Amino acid sequence: MLPYKPPIENVEIKYTQLFINNEFVPSKDGSTFPVEDPAAGQNICNVSEAKEADIDAAVAAARRAFQPESPWRKLAPKQRGRLLNKLADLMERDHHYLSSLEALDGGKLYKSVYYGDVLSSIDVIRYFAGWADKDHGQTIPMSSEYFAYTRHEPVGVCGAIIPWNFPLVMITWKLGPCLATGNVFVLKPAELTPLSALYFASLVKEAGFPPGVVNVVPGYGKTAGDPLARHMDVDKVAFTGSTAVGRLVQKAAADSNLKKVTLELGGKSPNIVFADTDLDYAVEMAHAAIFSHNGQICCAGSRTFVQEEIYDEFVKRSLKRATQGKIGSPMDFKTDHGPQISKIQKDKILGLIQSGRDEGCTVLCGGGAAEGMDGHYIQPTILTDLNDDMRVSQEEIFGPVQQIFKFKDVSEAIKRANNTKYGLAASVFTKDVDKALTIANAVQAGTVWVNCYYVMGPHIPFGGYKQSGIGREQGEYVLKEYTEVKTVVVKITPPAL
Ligand code: NAP
Ligand code: MG
Repeated sequence: MLPYKPPIENVEIKYTQLFINNEFVPSKDGSTFPVEDPAAGQNICNVSEAKEADIDAAVAAARRAFQPESPWRKLAPKQRGRLLNKLADLMERDHHYLSSLEALDGGKLYKSVYYGDVLSSIDVIRYFAGWADKDHGQTIPMSSEYFAYTRHEPVGVCGAIIPWNFPLVMITWKLGPCLATGNVFVLKPAELTPLSALYFASLVKEAGFPPGVVNVVPGYGKTAGDPLARHMDVDKVAFTGSTAVGRLVQKAAADSNLKKVTLELGGKSPNIVFADTDLDYAVEMAHAAIFSHNGQICCAGSRTFVQEEIYDEFVKRSLKRATQGKIGSPMDFKTDHGPQISKIQKDKILGLIQSGRDEGCTVLCGGGAAEGMDGHYIQPTILTDLNDDMRVSQEEIFGPVQQIFKFKDVSEAIKRANNTKYGLAASVFTKDVDKALTIANAVQAGTVWVNCYYVMGPHIPFGGYKQSGIGREQGEYVLKEYTEVKTVVVKITPPAL
């Protein structure tokens, strides 16, 4: 295992300007926005704010880089793979710095960024580097007079709009397949967490990618994200974020040039625990499923369904587990619960907990802000005495709030698990393979974990059913989201014999 290095104190913020055509530049109107450390609730720097004119400049640079005779288009596929591997090497070199920066900007637990986010981002880049020369078309037999073949061609200029909960990871999920298949990239990071994206941009340049292949334009959703989503010269937009904004992105695409859209959206994922499971293990997994990153994970197991025979004991042990964690600085190795990303998110979560109280559920623990902390901290919270129609049971809370429901049997579990507009993930804990596979088949979710949670990787496809998304990321499946299939039909006229 990688030896642990504590976070860099007062980590230097090296890049705060837009990255267009391989240069760091101020925004055209000179505007900036403040970037906050969520653990302290204090501003750490100002970053150039992209608006429509800057998005235009980034898209134009990307378009130039995509011209048929450009250096990027002339690269052999394996050379694209080499560049991506070089980028991964640089991320490895700067792993400690990237971890420190990401933890600071996002209020993320440093230890989980150090051992999780950064390493998995490197894996993603390497995985897609490997695909660069392996995604190809087919030959298709026809009558002897013709033959047909397909080419997998890049879509073109791809916009990416990402959220603040896994900034670096989300960049690589989009950039990896985008560049492996020969496209060019314009990224709008979340305005709350632009710093790792800008540093990553410097590594893109250092790795030797030609100008314009990657552009990074931090800004706000309405004034930078929307112009990207509705840009007439963008061929595809890949979005991760809330279902509400995903709907706006799809509408912007439809209202403009009908660009391709992939969406990774919210969730309200059920975690179904049967009485025949290993109880301590299931309690621990259910805890991790919702409290990791303070509930700010799209596929968090936010609805824990527990079979009635073990319900009381499960709740008792979950309560003990939820109240023993340490709330504190994300930079401290001993911390279990760090801050939420912003005051707005914190207030939204507290408002949802209050709505649960108003609708009659029991707040078993937590339920309020953590006392004595400067940043946006919330106590780990457990809600019981819930019914499926309450607002808290239907809406994504995106905070450290475990909801524990009671169920009787397999058919009730399936029905209630699917009683949501979302379909991102689900899990089931049981020793009975029949129950496990019946649930896995019946639950409408893009990922089903059996006796585990959050087991993911660059080779494992990820995405949502229903209003949790359109398309898939990761694995071989994502390649088709970044390629057009061109069919070529050739007439064969045999020469006179
Ligand atoms: P969000 O509010 O939907 O924002 C996501 C991104 O969209 C941000 O960069 C945001 O810009 C931008 N945006 C906002 N309005 C826009 C508009 N009108 N047009 C174009 N872009 C716009 O989501 P969030 O609060 O950052 O993230 C939390 C949500 O993301 C949760 O619902 C969570 O489930 C979901 N999520 C899903 C996945 C997944 O893979 N399915 C992964 C992570 C998160 P700003 O910088 O101004 O915010
Ligand atoms: Mg921040």
